[in-house]
Amino acid sequence: MVNPSRAEKPRYTPLRLLVMEGDGIGPEITAAALHVLDTVNDILDLRITFVPAEVGFRALKSHGTTLPDSVVEQATQADGIVLGPVAHNDYPPAAHGGVNPSGELRKQLDLFANIRPARTRDNIASTIAQVFDLVIVRENTEGFYSDRSMHAGTGEFMPTPDLAIALRKVSAHGSRRIARQAFALARQRRRKVTTVHKANVLRVSDGLFLRCVREVAAEYGDVVHEERLIDAMTALLIRDPHAFDVVLTTNMFGDILSDEACELAGGLGLGASLNLGENHAMAQAQHGAAPDIAGKDVANPSSLIGSTAMLLSWLSARHDDPKLAQAGKLIDRALDAVLSQPALRTRDLGGDTGTRAFAEAVADNVRDLAGQN
Ligand code: ATP
Repeated sequence: MVNPSRAEKPRYTPLRLLVMEGDGIGPEITAAALHVLDTVNDILDLRITFVPAEVGFRALKSHGTTLPDSVVEQATQADGIVLGPVAHNDYPPAAHGGVNPSGELRKQLDLFANIRPARTRDNIASTIAQVFDLVIVRENTEGFYSDRSMHAGTGEFMPTPDLAIALRKVSAHGSRRIARQAFALARQRRRKVTTVHKANVLRVSDGLFLRCVREVAAEYGDVVHEERLIDAMTALLIRDPHAFDVVLTTNMFGDILSDEACELAGGLGLGASLNLGENHAMAQAQHGAAPDIAGKDVANPSSLIGSTAMLLSWLSARHDDPKLAQAGKLIDRALDAVLSQPALRTRDLGGDTGTRAFAEAVADNVRDLAGQN
């Protein structure tokens, strides 16, 4: 990943990953991702240990809250985090223990960047006949998200029963640092950033965002910078996704565009992502807890498997350890190899392979690629 600050401790103290399986399909896809991760861990002798922690409905039952303070503390201490999807929309109100672990961890650990890649793969039908490979860099701690835009209280409130108000937070600091993330990432790719905004209407807030992005763009003369309005972008993404490399945008626009891009690439089950800050990173699927298919062994774990590969890449840069990057690439290649075979796909991609069997196939492929089968 891009420019994580160097760790103070030397590598070869074992790395500890905090693993929270979440709700809905979370336990199934987390078990699948861990199975693959543990396979590369063994093969490449990465010395990663996995520390489980409960969040979501299980934690609500055992601790009276969906995100115990002790888990936040563990997350702060961990070298990396894996979070399964959470069903926060179904949680009780905060007064009864319902806290969105995803939003709260992003806020508490200052995970300001949400990196969401989307690309077509061999043989997977896309809704458009075009090969593309783009990454959405989404601001993750501000915007319209009422649970993270305020120090205390919520950014959404109701002065009277017939009037609701939502605040949108955009800061110069938040805008500059997400822009730097996007431009630095573009330097490792095809050197193009498309900034998506609505400054023609949100003149003050997106105006500030755009001003900061332009300042940062000026520091990256070798990266092409273009600007698009969000409404036009939703159409352009469908018409010509190949035209985009790194897409930089604010929190909610990024959330919506990444679902669109993910669907164009084949479906939500493929959506990997990494939340990162200066000192922490959290692997997390782009999608939610999908309660409609929970417990049926049909969920596609590619999203979280791909997210853990991104986490390994981030850890590699942070700890100056090429073996971790090699591990991430091995997982990506194995995932691509399995997804290229229609008979091995999960139900969302037209196959009938179960979640567990899919993970086994990816792990087998990891072993094959490493020459151990
Ligand atoms: P959230 O708002 O929490 O992100 P959402 O409204 O986007 O959630 P999801 O739970 O992400 O809804 O998923 C929408 C639908 O897509 C699910 O009901 C499910 O049918 C399908 N889906 C999502 N993830 C997967 C997956 N990994 N494998 C297969 N199908 C999936």
